[in-house]
Amino acid sequence: MSVNIQPEKLFNYINGELTAPRQNHYIEVCNPATGEVYTQAPNSTLEDLNAACASAKKNQPMWAGLEAQERANWLRKLADGIKKYGDELALAECRDTGKPISIARSLDIPRCSANFEFFADAITQYHTECYPMQNAVNYTLREPLGIVACISPWNLPLYLLTWKIAPALVTGNCVIAKPSEITPNTANVLAQICKEVDFPAGVLSILHGQGSQIGDLITEHPDISAVSFTGGTATGTHISERCAKKLKKVSLELGGKNPAIVFSDCDLDKTVKTIVRSAFANQGQVCLCNSRIYIEDELYPDFREKFISETQKLKIGDPEEITTNFGAITNLAQYDKILSAIEQAKNNKANILLGGNKLYLDGRCSGGSFIEPTIMENLSLDCETNQNEIFGPVVTLNKFSSEEEAVKLANGTKYGLAATVFSNNIGKAHRVAAKIQSGVVWINEWMQRDLRIHFGGMKQSGIGREGGFNSLNFFTETKNIYFNYE
Ligand code: NAD
Repeated sequence: MSVNIQPEKLFNYINGELTAPRQNHYIEVCNPATGEVYTQAPNSTLEDLNAACASAKKNQPMWAGLEAQERANWLRKLADGIKKYGDELALAECRDTGKPISIARSLDIPRCSANFEFFADAITQYHTECYPMQNAVNYTLREPLGIVACISPWNLPLYLLTWKIAPALVTGNCVIAKPSEITPNTANVLAQICKEVDFPAGVLSILHGQGSQIGDLITEHPDISAVSFTGGTATGTHISERCAKKLKKVSLELGGKNPAIVFSDCDLDKTVKTIVRSAFANQGQVCLCNSRIYIEDELYPDFREKFISETQKLKIGDPEEITTNFGAITNLAQYDKILSAIEQAKNNKANILLGGNKLYLDGRCSGGSFIEPTIMENLSLDCETNQNEIFGPVVTLNKFSSEEEAVKLANGTKYGLAATVFSNNIGKAHRVAAKIQSGVVWINEWMQRDLRIHFGGMKQSGIGREGGFNSLNFFTETKNIYFNYE
């Protein structure tokens, strides 16, 4: 067997079959590194969704009736399939997103199989509560919700989709998965893997299409009882409103404007290297990327100089070349958004220290959407550049002169997803971390994660927590049973 990563057209995956969209509507899929349209994805409609829900409804009792260990074994088969086709998946992810192949190979795709393996293990350790009374006992059952939707974005396409699908499936739900229409290819490969391992029909459906069309139909559909969503804050707000009307359970992982706080007692070389990664990984298109760097006054000149020179070492180029570590912007709308944010900063008298322009490559990538890693300074906290998520390779450098000021600046946006603190003063680092309004704070690190830990944002960065047992809790309903044994 093999998987096709360059089909003329992608398929939906419904009732265990790779199927064309009922209305035969398609969306073009582009390789952002070359600008070429290389395939088409289904633009699904209600007919497709109804078919997926009908199959899910039929098969959910069988799936929920399996022993947890049996469901876990099915997840392991998917993990093995992902490992088997790791090279193909990495190339497909690289073509869809414009991210360097080295990142797709070392980070994205290994994490997809790890997601399935992690939740296959986690379910065996999942437990419920029991409260004995004098002559009675209360115990909790956790039951699947039924049919749930998992909606994911384009920056870490299969990584984030599998992060949702795995806990939803292992707890006995049937899943309607909707990958981003901008990067549908690896989800199409996952469907091929499901076929190859003979994954039970109807348990997982993958529907491609525009968020404004199939996404709205999914959040509206009466058979779907919960929505786990990762994406932008505006979309999350819209989904939340729609789900509220139907009283659907909802989990929202949204945008961020993540600060890094750099104290003068940090290890400067290590800090600079970490922040180059945290600012520019995946061309700044990671929800956890640092976009506002706060540096203690006395360190500012040294940090600025080293940070610029370290950023200049990034090898910008064809994402399919193994030595490239900075690729293309994933889609044209995002490309335009980033460029207009840079223009706005220039109008606000930002001092551009590095980059700030479109980038034109030669050869195969001459039609690609590349933007220089951009570093700027001289912008106030309340300007748009420091307030709005840009989601691209754009960072601002800012000064602070006290611990209190650093915390105030870090907390000065509507977001609260992630933050980093760099200091060798242990007490100070922990004190500041505790005061930052953010779902995660790394100290002298970035992006390290234990999958057992909760994940999610405060304020406008989301509602709820996923990760570890939090995901299993989200995808289950609790029921208390009271029994008097007298
Ligand atoms: P987006 O909100 O535009 O789209 C995300 C997904 O939602 C896509 O699959 C899209 O088709 C779908 N969608 C769009 N409109 C919909 C609707 N009306 N109903 C249902 N679904 C709909 O986000 P994006 O541009 O794909 O991703 C970038 C954003 O995602 C950034 O803001 C980034 O910070 C955020 N993000 C957050 C996390 C996190 O864990 N907090 C992780 C990655 C990305």
